[in-house]
Amino acid sequence: MVNTEYTEKQLQTEWLYKELGIGSRVYALGKQIEEELKGRFALIDENVEYNQMKVLHAMQKCRVDASCFAATSGYGYNDYGRDKLEEVYAAVFHGEDALVRPQIACGTHALAVALSGNLRPGDELLSPVGKPYDTLEEVIGIRPSGGSLAEYGVTYKQVDLLPDGSFDYANIEKALGEKTRMVTIQRSKGYQTRPTLSVDRIGELIAFIKERKPDVICMVDNCYGEFVERKEPVEVGADLCVGSLIKNPGGGLAPIGGYIVGKKQYVENAAYRLSSPGLGKEVGASLGVLPDFYQGLFLAPSVVGGALKGAVFAANIYERLGFSVLPDGRESRHDIIQAVTFGTPQGVIAFCQGIQAAAPVDSYVTPEPWAMPGYDSDVIMAAGAFVQGSSIELSADGPIKPPYSVYFQGGLTWQHAKCGILMSLQKMVEAGLVKL
Ligand SMILES: *Cc1c(COP(=O)(O)O)cnc(C)c1O
Repeated sequence: MVNTEYTEKQLQTEWLYKELGIGSRVYALGKQIEEELKGRFALIDENVEYNQMKVLHAMQKCRVDASCFAATSGYGYNDYGRDKLEEVYAAVFHGEDALVRPQIACGTHALAVALSGNLRPGDELLSPVGKPYDTLEEVIGIRPSGGSLAEYGVTYKQVDLLPDGSFDYANIEKALGEKTRMVTIQRSKGYQTRPTLSVDRIGELIAFIKERKPDVICMVDNCYGEFVERKEPVEVGADLCVGSLIKNPGGGLAPIGGYIVGKKQYVENAAYRLSSPGLGKEVGASLGVLPDFYQGLFLAPSVVGGALKGAVFAANIYERLGFSVLPDGRESRHDIIQAVTFGTPQGVIAFCQGIQAAAPVDSYVTPEPWAMPGYDSDVIMAAGAFVQGSSIELSADGPIKPPYSVYFQGGLTWQHAKCGILMSLQKMVEAGLVKL
C-alpha cells in the first residue's frame, strides 16, 4: 500500500530543508523575511529582465552563431568566436572595443594589464576614492612589490573619501596634476567599510575630473558590480571598465578569465601588454572555453539577480536578529557583497561553517581559521564551488579580528543563496549564539 501521508510530507519544501539540517524555527523565520521582501525582490527581477534583454540584444545584433563556439589552439590567429565575443562585450558594456580572454588569469591581472598598458614612466595614477583593493596595492607599489608600477617609474596619489562617504572634491582637484595620466575608481567597497559607489555617482566623479583634465584616462574597477544596475560605468564616461569572469559576468560558467572594455585605443594598449607589442589582440587561442564564456554572459543577469536577493535576504535576517549589517536591509545595492558583523570569533566561524555546509561541493568539510599569506590575522573561508575560487558562487570569508565581520557574496541561484544563509543561521543557533 502506498503511504500517501508520507509522500505528501516529502513533497513539502520544509521537509527537505529538515533533511539538509535546517530546523523549523530557522525555516519559519526565513519564510517570514522572504514574505516581507516580495516587493524588493520584484524590483530586482525587473532589473534582471532589463539586463537579460540587454545581453540578448547584443548577442543578436552581433549575429552570434554556432561557429563562435569552436576552439582554437596555438597562436589563435583569426579566432572568430573570440573576436565576436569581444564585440558582444563591447555592445553590452557600451564600449568601442573589448578584450575578453582566458589568458587574463583573474581580476587583479585584468586591472594590472589595463593600468600597465596605458601608463608610461613619469605618469601618475590617482585613486580619488581611497585605498584600492588589497591586491592592487602591490600592482601599484603602495606596498613595495617586484614588477609594480612604482618600479617602472609610475607614481601614485590617493584622495580618501570624506568621513560621510562623499567625494573630497577640493583635494581631488588639487591632486590632479600635470603628470596625472590615469584615474582608478573602484566601484565596489570590496572589504572596506565605505559605501559602494553607484554608477551615477561614478559618473559625477568622472565628469568633475574630465572638466578639469579632459585627457586623463578614467578606469573603473567593476568587480562585483556587473548587472547589479541597468547602467555600467562606460555609459557615464569611464574610458575603461575592468572585471573578472569568475565573478558576475562569467555567470558561474566561465572557468577563468577577465575583461577590459572601453575606448578602442586604451583597450588596444592593454592588449599590447597582455600579449606583446605588435601582436595585441591578434593572438591568444581560446582553447575551448568560448561556449562557457558566451553562455555564462547570457546567464549572468539572472545569476546576479539571485545573488542580490541572497544579499538582501541575509541583511534583513541578521538585522532582525540584532547584528549590524552593511549595506543595511533597505539600502539600494550597487554590488553583490554583504557584510555582517558578529562581534565574536565564534559568530564568524559558525556563519562560515554554515555557508560551507550548504554547498553543492565539499559540503562535508569544516572550514577553520588559518594564517593565510597576505593577511595580518587568521582568516576563515567558506567555498564549495564548481569553479575554484569563484566568488559568484556562494562564498564567505571573515578575518578573525575585531569587529568580527564576515563578507559574503554570490549564489548561482536565489534558492541556493537562501539555503546557505538559513544554514549559517542554523549553525549560529546550534552554537548557542542566536536564540530563536
Ligand atoms: C575581486 C576583486 C578584485 C581582484 O580580483 P581577483 O580576481 O581576486 O584577482 C579587484 N577589485 C575588486 C573590487 C574585487 O572585488
